[in-house]
Amino acid sequence: MKVNRDLLKNTIVLYVEDEKQLRQEVSFHLKKYIKNFYTANNGEEGIKLFYEIKPDIIITDIQMPKLNGLEMIRRLNTNIPVIITTAYSDVEYLLEAIKLNVNKFVMKPINLIELVKAIQECIIRDNLQEKIFEKENLLKIINENVLISITDVNGIYIDVSNAFCKFTGYSKEELLGKSHMILRHKDTPDELYSLLWKTIKSGKTFKEEEIKYMKKNGEEFICNLSITPAFKDEKIVNYTTIRQDITSKKKLEQLTIEDDLTKLYNRRYFNKIISSELQRLKRAKSYLSLLTLDIDYFKKYNDMYGHIKGDKALTDVAKVLKESSLRASDYVFRLGGEEFGIIFSDLNIEESLEYSNNIVKKVFDRNIEHLGNENTKRVTVSAGLITLNYINFEEEEKIYKYSDDALYEAKHSGKNRVVLSKKSK
Ligand code: GH3
Ligand code: MG
Ligand code: MG
Repeated sequence: MKVNRDLLKNTIVLYVEDEKQLRQEVSFHLKKYIKNFYTANNGEEGIKLFYEIKPDIIITDIQMPKLNGLEMIRRLNTNIPVIITTAYSDVEYLLEAIKLNVNKFVMKPINLIELVKAIQECIIRDNLQEKIFEKENLLKIINENVLISITDVNGIYIDVSNAFCKFTGYSKEELLGKSHMILRHKDTPDELYSLLWKTIKSGKTFKEEEIKYMKKNGEEFICNLSITPAFKDEKIVNYTTIRQDITSKKKLEQLTIEDDLTKLYNRRYFNKIISSELQRLKRAKSYLSLLTLDIDYFKKYNDMYGHIKGDKALTDVAKVLKESSLRASDYVFRLGGEEFGIIFSDLNIEESLEYSNNIVKKVFDRNIEHLGNENTKRVTVSAGLITLNYINFEEEEKIYKYSDDALYEAKHSGKNRVVLSKKSK
């Protein structure tokens, strides 16, 4: 152990020794390291000085006039480290000293370096104890506030934090011994769990930004999580999962991207998605399609059936669109009033047109009565389609315009149909 000057510099030491020459010699040398080095001649003086200087550590001789060192320590009844310097290896003294929790013994004649090291060790141990206390405190805080669960290698709960119990609605007894699948939400795909297990079994930490779960009462919640394996003798012994509840954040986010009435994505989100999809599909070297749709004679519908039924018709059309666009890369938007948009990908021009025709037909097939629609007597939509291969991608505004132009053509060539933009390529 090396002498650590930084550690010693700010330490306050009380040294009690009746032998003048030794006291002065030790004091002279230790002051080089320890600025606040105070001395007393005997136990009584030591006690007085103790209350004055409030030392971090006491070094004391045993045999002294007036009050001996051990008696002084007993009276002080303090928790700070104590070092005994003694010429007596007398068992009685030692036993007594141990009872008083004396930390160290330095034999006389004193080896100064040994003494400095003893001081140093006491300080370090004292700091450590303080840290352990902090750790315990911290554990308490974590237990009450952090969603932690620990499973064995098979995913069986072996420990959970109080916060985790409170949040999920399960008691500790209900969770321990059960599979982690007790919290699984039906929306979470098997693939995610396969990937998760593959990752942690290989000894890596698994992180996920967003995953849905179910509380005991059936309420869903959304979390981010990280699962970390713990090792013993290079073998995984358990997994610790820490989650953060992001449900309200997600709900808020949802509100900013969805349309109130139809629950489709809104216009703002459209702008975001079209640009991210363009980037993604450029990398994937694939096709992007934008289909814009508008309900035919909808003003008339409102006039004849009222606004409330109008809203209902809008919601019904939205549902048809949503049901027709089930791939993860299909995005359905309400772009405004009775206008909708669908962004989809990976289909060439012919396939995109077929897909779009099918959607328009599905709206027709839903057969929502609309007597003001002279031709069909039902709610229909007109649509404009633009499909671009990645090498022909254009600015977002242009893509929207091409699709809208095609929609305009669909309106003016009889409605209830799809027109493919001539700009498709
Ligand atoms: P076209 O066949 O050429 O599309 O004619 P249209 O009547 O459908 O088109 P227009 O743009 O003239 O009218 C659209 C109507 O859609 C006007 C408005 O009353 C109605 N509308 C827009 N938003 C809503 C809504 O949120 N709820 C209801 N009920 N109606 C809406
Ligand atoms: Mg319309
Ligand atoms: Mg319109």
